[in-house]
Amino acid sequence: MWRRVALDSRRRCCALPGTRAGSEERGRSRSGMQQLKGEAKAEAAASGCAICLEASPSDTLVLPCAHSFCRGCIDTLFCRHAEEGDYASRCPTCRAPLFGVADNSFGQAMEQMAGGAYDAAVERFAAARDAALPFATGPAGLNRLAAASQFNIGRAHERAGRYEPAALAYRAASSMYPPAHAVGASEALSNEGTMLFHLGRHAAAVALWEEAVALDPTDTLTQLNLGMRYLNSSDIGAAQSKVEQVIEQEPHNARAYNLRGVILQRLGRLEQARGAYAVALELDPQSPDAARNLDALNG
Ligand SMILES: [Zn+2]
Ligand SMILES: [Zn+2]
Repeated sequence: MWRRVALDSRRRCCALPGTRAGSEERGRSRSGMQQLKGEAKAEAAASGCAICLEASPSDTLVLPCAHSFCRGCIDTLFCRHAEEGDYASRCPTCRAPLFGVADNSFGQAMEQMAGGAYDAAVERFAAARDAALPFATGPAGLNRLAAASQFNIGRAHERAGRYEPAALAYRAASSMYPPAHAVGASEALSNEGTMLFHLGRHAAAVALWEEAVALDPTDTLTQLNLGMRYLNSSDIGAAQSKVEQVIEQEPHNARAYNLRGVILQRLGRLEQARGAYAVALELDPQSPDAARNLDALNG
């Protein structure tokens, strides 16, 4: 009997700290503009950094608009806006897009990806990455918009069903996040693992998923991918411990209850398995896996 446990890839934030929403669901809101008012007052300070008012910043970043700030101040500003889904951060002084054409390209690429124009999106994201890279905001020459662009090259390939180039793109993205932003690297590694899984390279996928979870222990989606894989390699104990860990972290995770049902069924505890599928369906009435598993068990 085929029991369904769907494999999922991480569909959340394309890059930035604190956010967990899928990048494609996030608009490029302009809400961040409100927050700029404070900084804008600093325009009076014609020289030095208009954000922190330091007269002679030790590490200056000159933006494409030619205004200059502390590198750290711009990084903080960009991250704060990106957390709100606003990648179109603007220069606090002149309101030009923070990273010039990179911002515009990123926005266009997101729209192309949403419209299914994956080849065009890959090209635009690459253009955004290359345009953002020279404006390194983070340590070691990193730029979070560049990392986000690289990550989304992977997403575009993935959506087009091209797993090999998607895996390579995610691999490249995972090394572009600053150490302080382990979540970004974790997402890229997790998705690279999922691509390799699709390509039948299961052991390599598991290694990447484990690496991703070590970097971001709150990542329940990847933990469930691991649980499913452990189950399929007949390591039921490891699968069980993953599932229970996820349910403890997210008591309303329907996918976790479905996998718990599959494990219980494998152990011959059919009544408890039925109960787990029922909980999964209660939490997510649209869950096709739990519905089919329950039908199969009852039929
Ligand atoms: Zn500053
Ligand atoms: Zn400016």
